[in-house]
Amino acid sequence: MKRTAPVAKNDFVDVVFEDLTHEGAGVAKVDGYPIFVPNVLPGEKAKIKVLKANKGYGFGRLVEIYTESPYRVDLSQKDPSLYGGCQIQHMSYEGQLTFKEKQVREVLKRIGKLEDVSVHPIIGMDKPMHYRNKAQVPVGEEEGVLIAGFFKPRTHEIVDAKESIIQDPVINETVQTVKEICSELGIPAYNEETHKGVLRHIMARFGKVSGEVMVVIITRTAELPFKERIIEEIAARVPYVKSIVQNINTKKTNVIFGEETRTLWGSEVIYDRIGDINFAISARSFYQVNPEQTKVLYDKALEYAELTGEENVIDAYCGIGTISLFLAQKAKKVFGVEIVPQAIEDAKRNAELNNIQNVEFAVGEAEAVIPEWYKQGNAADVLVVDPPRKGCDEALLQTIIDMKPKKVVYVSCNPATLARDLRVLEDGGYKTVEVQPVDMFPQTMHVEAVARIELR
Ligand code: SAH
Repeated sequence: MKRTAPVAKNDFVDVVFEDLTHEGAGVAKVDGYPIFVPNVLPGEKAKIKVLKANKGYGFGRLVEIYTESPYRVDLSQKDPSLYGGCQIQHMSYEGQLTFKEKQVREVLKRIGKLEDVSVHPIIGMDKPMHYRNKAQVPVGEEEGVLIAGFFKPRTHEIVDAKESIIQDPVINETVQTVKEICSELGIPAYNEETHKGVLRHIMARFGKVSGEVMVVIITRTAELPFKERIIEEIAARVPYVKSIVQNINTKKTNVIFGEETRTLWGSEVIYDRIGDINFAISARSFYQVNPEQTKVLYDKALEYAELTGEENVIDAYCGIGTISLFLAQKAKKVFGVEIVPQAIEDAKRNAELNNIQNVEFAVGEAEAVIPEWYKQGNAADVLVVDPPRKGCDEALLQTIIDMKPKKVVYVSCNPATLARDLRVLEDGGYKTVEVQPVDMFPQTMHVEAVARIELR
């Protein structure tokens, strides 16, 4: 069907915003034609200017708000560089929580066709700021001085960010100091266009309980000029630093990490603790970025697993074994699967570190390893999945349906794929009993949720 846009470039139109996109832009419809506009909120009535009118959708700019959302926060006097990585900082926290909870409810209905599932009120943070324990920031150059921060939305322009409302202050300071050290030594920033220069990204991770900091310097070249000086200066000037790592990414790509990782100084891991369990975390391993809410999330997953000590449990997408080790305290045996080999090394080390013996870890794709286990006669009583945004692979869902674990616990960072996968499980004989949204990422559009699923 061919359709023409009901608006044209440079038109001024009055609209009401209905929703937000995943990038946090407002969505308004003119005769069913969606227009995306940044810096607005659902429910707001406004005049906009059309900037672009494609066939199926358009983009606009806010001109004037007629009716403000009760959740709007005025940030016009604030420094925009404080909000890197945020999308809905202009919405009050109460508004953010209401929006996210509603989103989970609606998506489960619309995509999952789940009518009678109970969705609990979202669990938010008391102080929804400075929660992140990790930053990975692109580095650029401005008049011979290094800058580091975030890409201005929809551009390749780097905003130099000295602070962030969502990062832990230790992380902010670490990134700043490393940037200054490299700038003083004249290390050239990587240039995306010419594919020249050296320093691509700076990453910092902080174990909030242990107080340990890891610095990862991501370079285009294997050679890091003034390497010894950089190490000396970081070791002297970055408080709490326990590990300095270099990662080499020689490719012309916007993927941050390359394949080779070298420990330059100190330990190859830092430690942290969630609940009663200690974790070693290496540079390339996934580790939840909001430790306070991670505890809430994992406790919920454990509660939904309802373990008595008799169960064999599979933890698919196990990362460094965080959920696996939580589960192992209450299960007969836990089997973890994860695709990143370094993460599995960390997972094994973490089991040892905590003296937990009833766990086993395997490297591979969950959708390949778990069907193989099943073929060999190893079925689980309880299965936990915590996939990335794209959700579970169909082959894995089919294996769950064949294997028939009594309970499935689904930890999800994307309600849309959660809903899609829950529908598959429902059609395969499961029932979604309840869903608990948890706000792991205040000020952003991201929503996390845990679902309790039972065999009918
Ligand atoms: N449960 C862990 C990790 C969750 S993040 C925690 O809470 O810390 C999702 C993890 O899935 C990442 O570690 C990622 O490397 C891994 N992963 C991605 N695709 C995978 C696949 N097809 N099979 C197994 N693991 C995968």
